[in-house]
Amino acid sequence: MLAIGIDIGGTKIAGAVVSESGEILDELRVPSPAQDPDQMIIEVVGLINQLAAKAPEKVVAAGVAAAGFIDADQSTILYAPNLKWRNEPFRDRLKAHLDLPVFIENDANAAGWAEFKFGAGKGAKDMVMLTLGTGVGGAVVADYKLRRGGFGIGGELGHVRVVQDGRQCGCGRKGCVEQYASGSAVLKAAKKLASSDGPAGERLRQLKKESGELTGHQVYQALLEGDAATRELVNQAGNYLGQAMGSITAVLDPQVFVIGGGLSEAGELILDPIRQSYLRELPARGFRPEARIVTAKFSNQAGVIGAADLARESVG
Ligand SMILES: [Zn+2]
Repeated sequence: MLAIGIDIGGTKIAGAVVSESGEILDELRVPSPAQDPDQMIIEVVGLINQLAAKAPEKVVAAGVAAAGFIDADQSTILYAPNLKWRNEPFRDRLKAHLDLPVFIENDANAAGWAEFKFGAGKGAKDMVMLTLGTGVGGAVVADYKLRRGGFGIGGELGHVRVVQDGRQCGCGRKGCVEQYASGSAVLKAAKKLASSDGPAGERLRQLKKESGELTGHQVYQALLEGDAATRELVNQAGNYLGQAMGSITAVLDPQVFVIGGGLSEAGELILDPIRQSYLRELPARGFRPEARIVTAKFSNQAGVIGAADLARESVG
């Protein structure tokens, strides 16, 4: 049984035909009209129809992943900070143009499901995924099931607080972990260092001169070169994430944490401080098993794979 997965991003929409074993059979991408909900419907419907027409066998369902709060019925996008959507009846609007059953899903949940079923979390019963990108996305799988919460908005682990009265978060609170451990938070801290006069920012200042504005790629380069100040920024991010993971463990006790998103590409350089901090923060350490902490298997494709598989399971 084939299913289609769609992942709506801020700059592009990715679509794929996905097999039952999580394999991508065909892929398409189009630019994302992120600020225009009407055009978004047209683009997503077009992508699904194109993929379904070319699929080698019948497609049974389509799953659409987007960054935002999705309601418990998986029909309405309650709030999408980057897409200008408020209470958007997205599923019904898509359904009106499609012959397929269609489901919508939070993008971090879709990615987490892909890792649980086919990727780095495979074989576990309880898994937590944290995606370190623009924000910190979360997905909770407990007892083999994706947990969406009573209102559909559970697993927003980026908003676990790690600093009392800390940095302002887009959610309205202060001190959420995504303000400290996301890829954007690290880039912001690196930019600040590159704009300073101190000796620590020397390498980042040089890189900034090459391009005018420091990029995530350059920060990654400085990290791989062993620049001490950049490593310290990544260590701090890992430290805050580990703190959040200690609190998450107190609630969910996962067997494995999967770390995804752009920052996870630093591999051991980010996993090492995360593990150290997690162990420091683990309640009753020494008297309980410790979770494995690993990087994600799928990078950009987790969203489409997970969205497709969840949609297939919903009709299966
Ligand atoms: Zn927050």
